[in-house]
Amino acid sequence: MVTAKMVQALAARLDKAELLVTDGAVFPVAGLADYAVVRNGDGTQMYLVRITDGHENCTCPDYQQRQKAAGMPCKHLLAAQLALENTPQPPAAPVAMLPTKIDPSAGLAAIMAPRKVAA
Ligand SMILES: [Zn+2]
Repeated sequence: MVTAKMVQALAARLDKAELLVTDGAVFPVAGLADYAVVRNGDGTQMYLVRITDGHENCTCPDYQQRQKAAGMPCKHLLAAQLALENTPQPPAAPVAMLPTKIDPSAGLAAIMAPRKVAA
């Protein structure tokens, strides 16, 4: 069960996570909506965080060595969740229409629709 001590530890971690968000330490990763790069408290390290439900991960030592096994989020994971879940994702860019390739040897016939010659 989740003990009072665990909740206290999580609450303290959430406070640190909120500080990271307000400090602008969470950076979205272009094209990867479930990922963020989070700078640590003193600005010496950057960690890659994935918030995908069931596939959460952070590259920090705390998560890799302790929290992952305990099923607990590190402060970077919490910060990424706070920052990303409040940011609406931009709509997917429309797929660009590529011009149809034209074989130059076919000449104009490749471009112009064949005309039916009236009989
Ligand atoms: Zn972490």
